[in-house]
Amino acid sequence: MGRLFLVNLDGKVYSCKHCQTHLALCEEIVSKSFHCRHGKAYLFNNVVNVTMGLKEDRMMMTGMHTVSDIFCVGCGSIVGWKYEAAHEKSQKYKEGKFILERYMVAGPDGSQYLANLDSHVGGSDADDA
Ligand SMILES: [Zn+2]
Repeated sequence: MGRLFLVNLDGKVYSCKHCQTHLALCEEIVSKSFHCRHGKAYLFNNVVNVTMGLKEDRMMMTGMHTVSDIFCVGCGSIVGWKYEAAHEKSQKYKEGKFILERYMVAGPDGSQYLANLDSHVGGSDADDA
């Protein structure tokens, strides 16, 4: 494996909680009212330093979506998913955007979110904003 080329972000940054690789800027947040299997998740316009998994159709709270899991390039941890396509018209605003699971990332002030143990069961869910 060659040397990893990482993008460094300036400002309020969300980073991988395992290896501190920068993932997204605070100002790229579209919505904080999403949920995943570990509790809260945020929708971002853009993220950096991630690799994409295979596309798959996933049933979410707001209908069927085509998504790809996204992984930190620094350590390979899954950090969220990307919306490739939304099947419901009202959910099209999510297309091309990214979810970061709050539990998987460290916040701008270094804060870590503890998993909500009594959160949703049965995989990843996206809430309507
Ligand atoms: Zn990482």
